[in-house]
This record gives sequence, C-alpha cells and structure tokens, in this order.
Amino acid sequence: GLPTIYAVTPTYWRHVQKAELTRISQTLRLVPNVHWIVVEDSETKTDLVRNLIAESGLVVTHLHAKTPPFEQLKDKDPRWKRHRGVEQRNAALKWLRSNLQVNKNNGIVYFMDDDNTYNVKVFEEMAKVKKVGVWPVGLVGGLNAETPILDEKSGKVKGYKSGWKADRPFAIDMAGFAINLDLILKSEASFSYKMEKGYQESEFLSYFIKKEELEPLADNCTKVYVWHTRTEKPVVNGVVPGLEV
Ligand code: UDP
Ligand code: MN
Repeated sequence: GLPTIYAVTPTYWRHVQKAELTRISQTLRLVPNVHWIVVEDSETKTDLVRNLIAESGLVVTHLHAKTPPFEQLKDKDPRWKRHRGVEQRNAALKWLRSNLQVNKNNGIVYFMDDDNTYNVKVFEEMAKVKKVGVWPVGLVGGLNAETPILDEKSGKVKGYKSGWKADRPFAIDMAGFAINLDLILKSEASFSYKMEKGYQESEFLSYFIKKEELEPLADNCTKVYVWHTRTEKPVVNGVVPGLEV
C-alpha cells in the first residue's frame, strides 16, 4: 500500500498563524495517507493549535519545542539571523525515532513549513520515494523556481539551478525533498544551529545520500508542485473582542 507521509510542520504564534494552519491542514485533507506532525515553537501547546487540529479531521501528532533565545547570545554579530524551525524539526525527528520502527512503519518524511503553498501532487510524488526524492520549488532564492539539474544521459542529478550558493552539496530548499522513514530511523541526523545559515538542508541530506543517488521526481524536475510563499505581516491595530482569528 501507500507509505504514510509524515509531514513535519514547525509553527509559531503570529496573527497569520491560524490562517496558515487552516490553509495547509485543508490541503492535507486531500492527501489520503498523511500523518501530520505539528510542532509548536512555544513553552506549552496552545489552545489555538489544539482546536485547529481537533477540527482538521487529520491524523495528527501535536508537539511543542521552544526555540532557545540564541539571538541574545549572538548580538555581537549584526549579520547573524537565527535559524528557523531547527528545534521543532528535531523534536519531530525524536518523536519519529521513539515511536516508529525500521522495516515496520512504511513511511516518508517531509518538512512542510506552515507558510508555503502545496499542490496535492507533491504528496503523490513523495509516495514514490525510495531513499530521497527531489523536485523543484517555486519562488525561492531569487528565482521563479529552484531545481535540481539532471544529466541528460543518465537522468541523474548533476547539479542545481539555485539563486544562492548553487555549489552547496545539496542546494535544495526544505520543501524540495522527502526522505524514506527508515533512513531517518537508522540515523541520528538532526538539524543544528552551528550550521551556516542556508546549509541546514544541505548538511542534513549529506547524512543520507550522495548527489547522484537523489531520485528526481515531478516529471524529471520539470513541474513545480510547491512554492516557497511568504505571507505578508498584516497590520493589526485593534482587536475585536470575541473574534478569534
Ligand atoms: N518558525 C518557527 N519559529 C520561528 C520562526 C519560524 O517555528 O520563530 C517556523 C515557521 O512557522 C515555518 C518554519 O519555521 O514553518 C520556517 O520559518 P519561515 O517560514 O519564517 O522561514 P523562511 O521560509 O522565511 O526561511
Ligand atoms: Mn517560509
């Protein structure tokens, strides 16, 4: 049968949180074989997320893992920007490793940020993954889309079209790959604050695979089924009592 797709979503409170989670949870309703792992960047689980999950009709694991306040430690470095989602994705990896078993749970792991836009077809593509599958991601890195470049003869990944450091071992956005669950369970790979910004994906994938082994999906990387959209921060100057948005 179909593998279960473990979709890992870090999320944090801001005015658009409920709107973002509504959009992606309703996308996931169109995916038959998904297990959503929602990891709140907070001290405790919030009622907003708890209620949204309860209404979603999805199979969900709800976790929380607060990002430590590293920015304060790093304020001597003006260019330093904090990594986003590190703590939360690691909490999800820990949950997978403590709750699922190699060769028993047939699964695929996908890091599904809450603000991107997903075509349900990207989940159909993921179901084909043997080790690590890759595909283009729209609206990222200063390009209309980033994509792995395939060797014409072998059909394998030979490089990347990326607006930024295309020479990274894996110049792929978080939304542009999915990994076999067994590979995750057999490894101790995790994300780290020590990685140079923009190297999270590349370093993480290096634990598992060589570039030539990547499986190009989405019609040999010719289709865009996910977009790295970013939601504008709305102006909220007032709060209407009794209306939770
Ligand atoms: N995120 C988080 N805590 C934060 C900032 C971001 O949990 O303080 C989550 C966010 O909800 C998203 C993921 O981490 O699911 C990536 O963050 P964002 O979309 O802001 O990063 P960008 O796409 O701009 O690199
Ligand atoms: Mn984002």
